[in-house]
Amino acid sequence: MGKVFFITGTDTGVGKTIVTAILGALLQAKGYNVGVMKPVQCGGQDARFLKKFLNLSDSLEKINPYFVKEALSPHLAFSRAKKTIDVQKIIQTAQELQGRHDILLIEGAGGLMVPLKENYFVLDLIKDLNAEVIIVSRLGLGTINHTLLTINQVRDAGLKVKGIIFNTSRLGALGLPEKTNPETIHRLTGVSVLGTIPFLKKIDQTEIVRCCSWKINFNFCHSKEHSDEESNPQEILPPPRRGQNDGKTRQWQQWDKKYLWHPFTQMNDWLRDDPLVIEEAKGCYLKDIRGNWYLDGVSSLWVNVHGHRKKEIDEALKNQINRLSHSTLLGLSNTPAIELAKKLVEIAPRGLSKVFYSDNGSSAVEVALKMAYQYWQNMGRRKKIKIVHLTNSYHGDTLGSVSVGGIDLFHKVYRDLIFETIAVEFSELEKLFQKKHEGIAALIVEPLVQGAAGMIVWPPGLLKRMARLCRRYDILLIADEVATGFGRTGKMFACEHEGVTPDFLCLAKGLTGGYLPLAATLTTKKVFDGFLFDYKDQKTFFHGHTYTGNPLSCAAALANLKIFEKEQTLRHLQPKIKYLAKGLKKFYNLASVGEVRQKGLMVGIELVKHRWTKEPYFWEERIGVRVCQEVRKHGVILRPLGNVIVLMPPLVITVEEIDQLLEATYSSIESITEK
Ligand code: PMP
Repeated sequence: MGKVFFITGTDTGVGKTIVTAILGALLQAKGYNVGVMKPVQCGGQDARFLKKFLNLSDSLEKINPYFVKEALSPHLAFSRAKKTIDVQKIIQTAQELQGRHDILLIEGAGGLMVPLKENYFVLDLIKDLNAEVIIVSRLGLGTINHTLLTINQVRDAGLKVKGIIFNTSRLGALGLPEKTNPETIHRLTGVSVLGTIPFLKKIDQTEIVRCCSWKINFNFCHSKEHSDEESNPQEILPPPRRGQNDGKTRQWQQWDKKYLWHPFTQMNDWLRDDPLVIEEAKGCYLKDIRGNWYLDGVSSLWVNVHGHRKKEIDEALKNQINRLSHSTLLGLSNTPAIELAKKLVEIAPRGLSKVFYSDNGSSAVEVALKMAYQYWQNMGRRKKIKIVHLTNSYHGDTLGSVSVGGIDLFHKVYRDLIFETIAVEFSELEKLFQKKHEGIAALIVEPLVQGAAGMIVWPPGLLKRMARLCRRYDILLIADEVATGFGRTGKMFACEHEGVTPDFLCLAKGLTGGYLPLAATLTTKKVFDGFLFDYKDQKTFFHGHTYTGNPLSCAAALANLKIFEKEQTLRHLQPKIKYLAKGLKKFYNLASVGEVRQKGLMVGIELVKHRWTKEPYFWEERIGVRVCQEVRKHGVILRPLGNVIVLMPPLVITVEEIDQLLEATYSSIESITEK
């Protein structure tokens, strides 16, 4: 027999039907076989709507045995229609449906003290059905009184309140009553708050699962922790029935473990757990093969810009497939590659006038390093061979880019394979240039935000100072904007914040909006001209990847850039950046938060043992990993950098989604570090 929950409201019109529909849809998405009953209905289409919305196979007569057209209290409406309600029939139908489903949600009519007939109230029906009660409450003034009266009434009748679900009945920012109602009611009564349903503009399945699954605490279905009184272990719900889908889930997980080797992953750990397998996405959300939706809190590793399945990019790709998927740039050209190069030159800092394509960030960096080195060779300045980078830099994983990396954890093990460079602290740069500029070819930096180092945000003016030093000492400046490019810092490129034009600009990640691998190294006419020689001189730039300038990738990138213009993405980003900054302040309430760093939509929350001592967590404590595992329970995907929790949502994220991201992150840090 399935479990029965009776859904009642604190009043008529608080949104019981919507909450029933939402709960039903969410439980279905979790794999439960859900049945619904609306035993008594006066007017309206509630039962019909629930049947259709939840795609229920039970007949309408079973779902709603008693219906009259007049929207009045049932006792009056039914007597006027000369019909009587047979409680036994309701109970029998409920038992039948209970036998067919894992969970049966029974929606009441109005509140508890609504008379179904003379001397028989909704509350009596709940008693006769022996159901646990979920109370739907409307957020706002008056809620505390209505909700407490309802709770008392249920308790006086000797029944259990399973929890309260608050329904937001209007759009817009929540006022103080709305924000504090749930906590107050929980404090005064000890009843669990199962969640708050946001105001939904659209009531459709996907939207509901996307917006609400993280809003409800489903422990009420299977743990005693959320019941009013101690539950009996026998009452614990069985796990969702294993349908075909579950077999499929296991198959994907097994094949993953059998055939895949995951990047930056200790496979020993991976093989112990069940991997989360993604099969679909929409907007800022990813869906796993079980049907759960997650907010993509790190833009699928810092790449997604306008959301997943963005219509314009999808269409651009389909159109391009109908024309040409690939042709080489070695000895030939292609239209999307030309058009994109023109566009990139138009939007890049002034003076960058040539585009060299590759297909990932590390390669974009390799190209810049090789070009910078060869430029001086071609110019006859043979001694200018050294590359300078910052001590905690990260520029990719190929050996050339590892050579200019300064993060020991990633780079130390390869030290015998890499070329010699000069690692320097910001503060030592001028001294170094003064002394050694004759032998230095280039300085490579991640302007404004050093991503992989843990989202280290530079003080204002630093990039400009570095650019001046490079100019003064005839050293080429390579700006690696693989992570910071395409709006992440609030401007199209981080260099724009300080009016800097580097000699090389390395781009990848967001270039195609997060769709396809493509990278570009932009440079100046001066560098380009440094390679213009006679064929016989052999001073060509001898570098090129097979898929350089791939037309599909270029078409996706062009569509991505058009959306920036059409939707004014960067303009709309500014209030979101401020909203995010405001929300992040709260994180300092947590003793384990050492520092919160933000530039644009790039955020690093550094966790420490205690803020005042700044003592770091040990590597073995896997604190970042554990927080990111916890946050999945709230329907959010994050990936840490050691002890730093990174938030880097798609630029298209809404303020409501920022709320979700922050709330989920906050409570996950709290529950992992403060228990
Ligand atoms: N440079 C920077 C600044 C990066 O953050 C990254 C990747 N996180 C890379 C280069 C390497 O890019 P890819 O992974 O595409 O090779």
